[in-house]
Amino acid sequence: MERKKTIKVKVGSVYVGGDSPVSIQSMTNTDTRDVEKTLAQIRALHIAGCEIIRCAVPDMKAAEAIKDICAGSPIPVVADIHFDYRLALKCVENGISAIRINPGNIGSVERVKAVTEACKEKNIPIRIGVNSGSLEKDILERDGKPTAKGLVESALRHVKILEKLNFNDIVISIKSSDVPMMIEAYRLMSKECNYPLHLGVTESGTVFRGTIKSTLGIGTLLAEGIGDTIRVSLTSDPIEEIKVAKEMLIALGLRKQGMTFVSCPTCGRTQINLIKIAEEVEKRLENCNKNIKVAVMGCVVNGPGEAREADIGIAGGNGEGLIFKKGEIIKKVKEEDLIEELMREIENL
Ligand code: SF4
Repeated sequence: MERKKTIKVKVGSVYVGGDSPVSIQSMTNTDTRDVEKTLAQIRALHIAGCEIIRCAVPDMKAAEAIKDICAGSPIPVVADIHFDYRLALKCVENGISAIRINPGNIGSVERVKAVTEACKEKNIPIRIGVNSGSLEKDILERDGKPTAKGLVESALRHVKILEKLNFNDIVISIKSSDVPMMIEAYRLMSKECNYPLHLGVTESGTVFRGTIKSTLGIGTLLAEGIGDTIRVSLTSDPIEEIKVAKEMLIALGLRKQGMTFVSCPTCGRTQINLIKIAEEVEKRLENCNKNIKVAVMGCVVNGPGEAREADIGIAGGNGEGLIFKKGEIIKKVKEEDLIEELMREIENL
């Protein structure tokens, strides 16, 4: 897969764009003013695989809390700010790694300039974040409804404001809850400019639907080489967002670290309780960071072939199963011992 070469920007210790790997982001859903709770969530997200975290900064108290959050966070923190340039300035002063704010919503040029000057001084990028729910009135009136073209036009207006002030440390997102519109918008934007793109399907829903919508939207674009950093938005614990994002990157071959898990769908040949075994193995390997492929297969028809391709695998039989390691059968185990034996072998890999 050839990825589009975008401009490289630096978000704290993480590079976004250029030849950098696609990074995973999420957003805290704690009250930002509660530093302890917010940091606890950031740490948990970091362990799960989150690389950049965004916190909502709705008021000055939250902007003040950003100081301790940045100091205690193991990953770069992005401030999510709407309208108030003073909050942006405070966050810059308090050690933020990037700011999400739309310059067209800040007000006078002087205010925008104050923000860009402060960001420039500390090499802090600004993410322009347009979404279909907050398009400018004139664009909406002209088009009658949100469109991909309208989203791109809106984002480019914000971009122009920053460029006029000689500010080019920019990341762009143009999200929509409508998957085809989101895909079209990012494709257009990718042709229009070389700024790194932050991909996301906004308000995508709860875990089941949201995962499908995000995977279709973000995954389609990534497969075309578009996108530099991603956020899966789910109405759930943000940890779920990280799990989906990681799996998406691994499945597309954009991430080499981490486990690849394959299991068969089961059929009339399956003679062990494979669904239960696969679910349990997957659960136990949730935090496995080994660079391995694990296969859990129901039978010896396709099973051993698939399992042989994996670093380690099971192929079920009648009340028992074979364990394969690097293409070789290493043992035959009773069904009730399969999980434990497999886990032991994985640990020893
Ligand atoms: S691996 Fe075997 S049990 Fe699983 S779906 Fe294929 S044929 Fe059926």
